[in-house]
Amino acid sequence: MPHTRTPVVDGWFAGEGDGFRLLGTRCSSCATVFFPREDVHCRNPHCDGGSLEEVPLSRSGRVWSYTDSRYRPPSPYVSDRELPWEPYALIAVELEAERIVVLGQAAPGVTVADLTVGMEVEVVPGVLHEDAETAWTTWHWRPTGVRA
Ligand SMILES: [Zn+2]
Repeated sequence: MPHTRTPVVDGWFAGEGDGFRLLGTRCSSCATVFFPREDVHCRNPHCDGGSLEEVPLSRSGRVWSYTDSRYRPPSPYVSDRELPWEPYALIAVELEAERIVVLGQAAPGVTVADLTVGMEVEVVPGVLHEDAETAWTTWHWRPTGVRA
C-alpha cells in the first residue's frame, strides 16, 4: 500500500509516534495560546497585540466533554460520501497549561462507553480517510496508556 500521507490541514500538527503534537500559536505579549492556530492578530481583546509564534501543545489533557457523532463531520474534514458513514466519538479535551479546549475524534476502537469526564487522554496520529493514493492524516484522542 504505497500511500502518501498528507495532513488534512497544513500546520495544525506535526511529528510521528510519541513525538506527535498539535501545533498552536502563542502571543508573545499576553501568552494566550490559540488552536486552531491564529497567525494574524492576537484575539485577546485586552491585549495590545504581540507577535504570534508557533508552539507545540501539551500532549495530554483531560476529557471536558464528549459526544457520539452520528453525522458526517464538517469541513475541513473530508469524508467519502460513497461509503457508509461510521459514527465516532468526538471528544473535547481541556489542555490545562494552555487553558484551551481542543476538539478531536477518538482513536479507532474508542467509544463513548470508554470515556468519562476528567479522564486523561493523549493526542495520537490518526488517519481520517484513505483513498487509493493518499492517507489523509489527522489527530485522535486516546485514553492515556492504552495502546492501539
Ligand atoms: Zn496577545
